[in-house]
Amino acid sequence: MDIFAKEFRADMLGQVDGLLDAKNVAATKVEEEALKLRAEQAQLTKTKARLANEECPVSVCPYCFYMSQKTSALTATDPTPDGIDQLKCKTCHNEWQQPD
Ligand SMILES: [Zn+2]
Repeated sequence: MDIFAKEFRADMLGQVDGLLDAKNVAATKVEEEALKLRAEQAQLTKTKARLANEECPVSVCPYCFYMSQKTSALTATDPTPDGIDQLKCKTCHNEWQQPD
């Protein structure tokens, strides 16, 4: 019986080592994902504060100002077919129509 117990222990030690390695890899992935989510959460918190408290300067792209915290100048593009003036951001490429 002793020989079976030794073989069992050796076999199980190998299996448990494999399980520990797999759990460590999985836990590391989850920790890395949690760090990414926390960083995204911090970025959104800054964006929320900016949306709630700051006015976007005239001639600055609102998307870049609020979402990326950049001040990207808008440049005039061709007006729409119905004559509405348009502005385009060179950073994010969003187009904005000139308010009346
Ligand atoms: Zn932009």
